[in-house]
Amino acid sequence: MVAAGLFTRSDLAILGKAASVAELLTQKYFNFGDNEWKRNPYAVFTRKYVTKNLYEDFAFANVIRYGGKPGLDKIEPHAYSYGIVLQDPVILLELLRSSERDLWTMGLFVLTHELIHIVRFREFGADFFACAHDRDKEERLVHGITRDMLSGMNHMAPILNHYQGCADEMRAERPS
Ligand SMILES: [Zn+2]
Repeated sequence: MVAAGLFTRSDLAILGKAASVAELLTQKYFNFGDNEWKRNPYAVFTRKYVTKNLYEDFAFANVIRYGGKPGLDKIEPHAYSYGIVLQDPVILLELLRSSERDLWTMGLFVLTHELIHIVRFREFGADFFACAHDRDKEERLVHGITRDMLSGMNHMAPILNHYQGCADEMRAERPS
């Protein structure tokens, strides 16, 4: 059982700034307009605000989708709203494991990765309910894009190298 706690208020302030940078990077990478994330807002939740069926003990975060109607995604992925659930204890425990990790860098890595998933679901027809094989493929693709965006940033190399192709640690893009 993961024993690390929940994010503090100052942790959340750091993650909020990391989210802003992740938004800018994804806008630029995908050639979206400046207000992409204002037009298509997403929600960020932490454990305090979700029910236990959205807890993950081995993933840093998961993407959730809500609204819309069942079976509609093939036709209109824009009909859904998307959100990111940050798994506080898993991220905090990871920071304790290595002095090479800090919350800013981990937060930017995780949020950028999850925003790319949302773009892939919404704009590129990635299947929210893909089978394990296709999900692994999607994870590798998303990680490759994450690497393209974040390579060269301070302290990012050890994180990008450690989690490459390690889909199990970034899995859990599933609804409740
Ligand atoms: Zn992922």
